Amino acid sequence: MDHDTSSRSSRTPVTLLGLGDMGTALAHAWLAAGHPLTVWNRTPAKAGALVREGARTAPTPAAAIASATGPVVLCLLDDASVTEVLDGAGLGGKDLVNLTTGTPEQARDLARRSEARGARFLDGGIMAVPPMIGRPETGGYVFYSGDRELFERHRETLEAPAGARFTGTDPGHAALHDVALLSAMTGMFAGIAHAFALVDDEKDLDRTAFAALLTDWLRAMAGSAQGMAAQLESGDYTEGVVSNLAMMAAGNDTLLAAAADQSVDPRLLTPYMDLMRRRVTQGHGAEGLAGTVGLLRGV
Ligand code: NDP
Repeated sequence: MDHDTSSRSSRTPVTLLGLGDMGTALAHAWLAAGHPLTVWNRTPAKAGALVREGARTAPTPAAAIASATGPVVLCLLDDASVTEVLDGAGLGGKDLVNLTTGTPEQARDLARRSEARGARFLDGGIMAVPPMIGRPETGGYVFYSGDRELFERHRETLEAPAGARFTGTDPGHAALHDVALLSAMTGMFAGIAHAFALVDDEKDLDRTAFAALLTDWLRAMAGSAQGMAAQLESGDYTEGVVSNLAMMAAGNDTLLAAAADQSVDPRLLTPYMDLMRRRVTQGHGAEGLAGTVGLLRGV
């Protein structure tokens, strides 16, 4: 870890509001990379270890922001806490980087409000958990969107805790990417839970070996996202189809019968199976799964 004052002073100063699990991990990464760091947290005691590592504390968010000459990073619980913390602070000429998870609309609204108060604004969505921060080998990264010039100016600083991926000048796009990936993950977790429920009652089944099979299978099937993207781009949902919808919908009956035999509630699967069946009923049995996207959007 770098505690050297001379090398620290040559790096861009960072101001960080929020020292929860994620904020603390970010703080350690910036200190380790030699950035002068000013922190504020609602519960001041959480700054103790960071101060011993060279961070300075500010008594209020407004004071922290007023003294900032580099990016002001917010990593708080939610959008409401960000609004509360920025209330009454002078934002004129400041570079705000919001790493608090929120919706795309919350990010756009915060961008409008911040810019109206004279700040530049960048929103971020963190695709990592705290132990991945400051460890590039783990592959963690952050989506950014909003002010491109702000992003380019502070890119090197922002990349100290985790990789940085700019998703566009619409400030809502980082949150949109974040939420879309997390939503896909949630669906995957549902599938994994169902799979384990199917085998759960089998006394002679090795769960660890089963988990390895499950992981390999999901990894192989995840590639179908590229095929779906190509179909959605071209508008031809039969393009490159290797497993057609009519076959898959028929196969769903087998999955449901097996769930019934194993006394497993199929509730995590049936909503998507219903969409597949609807698309087949509409005469699209030769397609892949891309048609279900429009059904979800009601078009
Ligand atoms: P924590 O719950 O550990 O910390 C929450 C932080 O928000 C604390 O600093 C807390 O202050 C502060 N806070 C909460 N409410 C208020 C308020 N009304 N006014 C001022 N400060 C407030 O959360 P994390 O640090 O883990 O997460 C922070 C953000 O990072 C969240 O948006 C989360 O979604 C995102 N994130 C977290 C990941 C993770 O795995 N942890 C992964 C990816 C994103 P105090 O210490 O006083 O309670």
